[in-house]
Amino acid sequence: MLVAEEKDVLKEKLKEIFGYSQFRGNQEMVIRNLLNGHNTFVIMPTGAGKSLCYQLPAVVKDGLAIVISPLIALMKNQVDSLNAYGINARFLNSTLSKGEITRLKKDATSGNIKLLYVAPESLNKEENIEFLQKVNISFVAIDEAHCISEWGHDFRPEYRKIKTMIGQLGDMPVIALTATATPKVQLDIQKNLQMEEADVFISSFNRTNLYYEVRPKKETKKQLIRFLKEHKGKSGVIYCLSRKKVEEIAQLLNVNGFKAAPYHAGLDPDVRIKNQDGFLNEDIDIIVATIAFGMGIDKPDVRFVIHYDVPKSLEGYYQETGRAGRDGLEGHCLMFYSHNDLSKLEKFNKDKSVQERENARVLLQEMEFYAESPVCRRRQLLHYFGEEFDGGNCGMCDNCVHPRERFDGMNFVKLALEAVKQTSERFGLNHLVNVLTGTEDEYVKSYSHFKLAIFGKGKGEAAEFWKSVIRQALVFQYLEKDIDNIGVLRISEKGKQFLKKPHSIELARDHDFTTEVDEEEDSPDRVPVNSKSYDARLFELLKAARKKIAKEKDLPPYVIFQDPSLEEMATTYPTTKEDLASVNGVGMGKVNKFGREFLDLIQKYVDDNDIETASDIIVKTSVNKSKAKIQIIQQIDRKIELDEIADSLKMSFQDMLTEIENICYSGTKLNLDYYIDEVLEEEKQDTIFEYFLNSETDSIKDAVEALKDEDSDFDEDNLRLMRIKFLSEYAN
Ligand code: ADP
Ligand code: ZN
Repeated sequence: MLVAEEKDVLKEKLKEIFGYSQFRGNQEMVIRNLLNGHNTFVIMPTGAGKSLCYQLPAVVKDGLAIVISPLIALMKNQVDSLNAYGINARFLNSTLSKGEITRLKKDATSGNIKLLYVAPESLNKEENIEFLQKVNISFVAIDEAHCISEWGHDFRPEYRKIKTMIGQLGDMPVIALTATATPKVQLDIQKNLQMEEADVFISSFNRTNLYYEVRPKKETKKQLIRFLKEHKGKSGVIYCLSRKKVEEIAQLLNVNGFKAAPYHAGLDPDVRIKNQDGFLNEDIDIIVATIAFGMGIDKPDVRFVIHYDVPKSLEGYYQETGRAGRDGLEGHCLMFYSHNDLSKLEKFNKDKSVQERENARVLLQEMEFYAESPVCRRRQLLHYFGEEFDGGNCGMCDNCVHPRERFDGMNFVKLALEAVKQTSERFGLNHLVNVLTGTEDEYVKSYSHFKLAIFGKGKGEAAEFWKSVIRQALVFQYLEKDIDNIGVLRISEKGKQFLKKPHSIELARDHDFTTEVDEEEDSPDRVPVNSKSYDARLFELLKAARKKIAKEKDLPPYVIFQDPSLEEMATTYPTTKEDLASVNGVGMGKVNKFGREFLDLIQKYVDDNDIETASDIIVKTSVNKSKAKIQIIQQIDRKIELDEIADSLKMSFQDMLTEIENICYSGTKLNLDYYIDEVLEEEKQDTIFEYFLNSETDSIKDAVEALKDEDSDFDEDNLRLMRIKFLSEYAN
């Protein structure tokens, strides 16, 4: 009776306050468990609705609920949206002023506030504990509870003190929530919070509508552009590891006609908010971001999530991919993978403590196994979070759709399990592989494992092969991880049965990423423009055309187009003015002057030779700085008009002047006479020269001020040009 009533009240409140008519998944059971005063542990994938599990009880229950969350940046958002529902929620963190804190304390003690979001650092403060001791607290919620565990991917040391802090507040139920927790992390959280007895609610992590794919990181920009063209107009997120990469890729996409914007912690908050809002309002299709983006973002129709760089952990990967397809429709998760990325990530950890470094390495290794494994991605991910996938071919991952070569693994698995057994289930992957392949390292020697019957029994196969077999035996549950000893493998019940009565087991070969050439990350060249890659026949035709035009116009050929530009044309086959203008050293000005004949020629060549025009996969890049400098120097040397140089670099005239000034200030002599003589009479040049000779400063503002009444030609651009001339003649 009472149960039924309570249920109705909850449902009513759900509708009345939040406007939902149904609970989702485990929500109702979780809420009821908490309301009944039990400690509760919730593991629910991102987007499944964790917040409601403490927000609704906070409203229903007497007193104030404390929500501990590490995401200070999001507290205000969360509080604002709760206030919009008519719930009195507040937050307490380092961003509050003294006055705000005083007011908060007053409101809290008078019993008005239902939810208080607190950062663990703030909760740790004596004065805050003292004040909360006077407040009637309904329960404590610990959001992002995986931060407690040092074995997880987002460890926050201050989270380990939470239990002590709560202890000081009195005796009240605790609800811990997280979207990612491997079985080991889960145990660690419960131990640390001393809530081993808590009721655990784990939702399925299977996101059936997501397609998982891993590709080698090779010609990545080209692959990326092609993928995006196939998904044009759809919403997506691209994750990169560094801010620099984020900027670079966002720019790359813009140059290639996509509506993309960067997002990272280094951006001005205004810009960040503008970009985020643009994404939510669909003014921007693609957000290129570091992992700073996405927490708390709830855009239901994200159609793809791309990892341009390898993520640091499977937890991170799962959370980030989880932002795709929240509405239950298509969600494509594409990761570009290379060993090189793994080594880079390892290097990031070099300043950490030995233990932290080791933990980070273990997480990275899981990432490596995931990427290289031939096993269904879905099965692997679920296995990682302690859930078994019971379907066979999921049909929604690259390994299921394009299965790897299979073989019967019975005898291999048998040997692998034997190795685990004979070493007393006390070792990890690498040692087992050494034992199997008969590799005598320090460990093998110190444990005298070379004496074991199994030692060297797997000599015929490479170490990589054995690693793969053992990993697959683990994913298919013939082996299991020892939860107390990280890395140690044991034989599972299923494995024991198998050893008694072996049967055939289908295994597959790992992906081989070693033969892939890693992209040369530091060369932002649009297309490989090396001497061998261009179409030599077309190049000769283009050169002939250039010669003809040069003759007609009585100009040296290089004034028309320089060789590198022709080589690039012979690589990318531009057939439109825009495409041609994007070739290095061309620009719209030249296209209009000389482009027609070249375009016609290329079009004819493409038609005659049935060439799939590259224009659909051309990766255009904006020129990077140092390259721009070199081009400026070269083109000035060849006396190219300055507007044309700016054009070809897709820069404003002023930005180009800045570049030229930089060049000049770094000591390179530039002769701009050919241009200056055209725009300024000699007499006027002399006047400006005089000024700079006698002026105490080279400030342009001062110069404009001093000369403004003399002549209208003494504008900023011209003064800057003259200053360059002056510096070149006198300073360099
Ligand atoms: P999580 O914290 O697990 O990532 P949220 O709590 O942010 O997820 O919820 C994700 C989305 O689901 C939010 O838009 C939320 O309003 C919505 N939601 C939560 N519970 C329900 C429900 N019972 N019915 C409909 N929508 C819900
Ligand atoms: Zn699959």
